[in-house]
Amino acid sequence: SKDQGGGVINSYEPTLHDQARERREIEIELRSALGRDEFMVHYQPVVHSDGRVDGFEALLRWNSKKLGPVSPVKFIPVAEDTRLIGPIGEWVLQTACHEAARWPSNTKVAVNVSAEQLSSPGFVASVMKALAHSGIAPNRLELEVTESVFLREVSGAMATLDQVRALGVKLVLDDFGTGYSSLGYLRMGQFSTIKVDRSFVQGALKGARESIAIVRAVVALADSLEMSTTAEGVENQEEADAIVALGCKKLQGYHFGRPMSAEDAFAIFDGGARR
Ligand code: C2E
Ligand code: CA
Ligand code: CA
Ligand code: CA
Repeated sequence: SKDQGGGVINSYEPTLHDQARERREIEIELRSALGRDEFMVHYQPVVHSDGRVDGFEALLRWNSKKLGPVSPVKFIPVAEDTRLIGPIGEWVLQTACHEAARWPSNTKVAVNVSAEQLSSPGFVASVMKALAHSGIAPNRLELEVTESVFLREVSGAMATLDQVRALGVKLVLDDFGTGYSSLGYLRMGQFSTIKVDRSFVQGALKGARESIAIVRAVVALADSLEMSTTAEGVENQEEADAIVALGCKKLQGYHFGRPMSAEDAFAIFDGGARR
């Protein structure tokens, strides 16, 4: 806010007080959101450079009866702080695997997993349950984690990821390049895919030398470690061309499809049959 003189303070920007209040409101409503059936999972396609659908990323949506639609950017951190992410994340995992069982059997489903969730004792069992109940092959399930899972307690996270990987589930390192030094985590050999953050995709198109060099280096590193790379947030053909030219194998972003309802995602496969 800017001081306009005369001691009058403009308050267009939310103050810390407003933010704290909003957080409290979100927390209160979040506690009963599962029970009230206010969540939905949307699915965003991940495609190969030739346009074939590789799979879908499950993205949680919350339409609160009281607050209206709330962005995951706002409520996921609250869910993490209050440990509500446990039951909510569990619901996303079961729902997404159940949905994926309707898709062609080579189509993957990627589920985001918070550090909080990963460190809870029942996590591996809930992955096993999701696989058993849905009947999908373990290698169709990808769990997306960010470097933050390693921040607090590296060995615990590593052990859990190893157990999940032993089931045949694939691990994806999300938001690569935005967090702390990441090369050490790649050395552990646990990840099958690196997701290159949207900021690099946009930088590469703008011809930013640094972004281009980083994407090239990440792709080369991934290739030599037998991992694949997915570029996030590809919004137009120019970005797609720039990123494919840099060697990225898989692409995701509004240009290929926005996050959509389960029904709309299913129609991508079923469309031909229905028409
Ligand atoms: P993320 O995992 O990095 O997911 C990608 C985000 O980028 C999604 O935002 C997606 O809608 C958005 N996106 C996709 N393509 C484009 C594009 O072309 N341009 C732009 N500008 N954005 C694009 P969304 O759905 O709002 O989710 C935000 C974050 O919330 C996710 O980031 C993830 O960290 C978290 N999240 C969402 N669902 C879950 C969940 O079920 N569990 C957990 N733990 N976190 C989740
Ligand atoms: Ca993700
Ligand atoms: Ca991401
Ligand atoms: Ca992110």
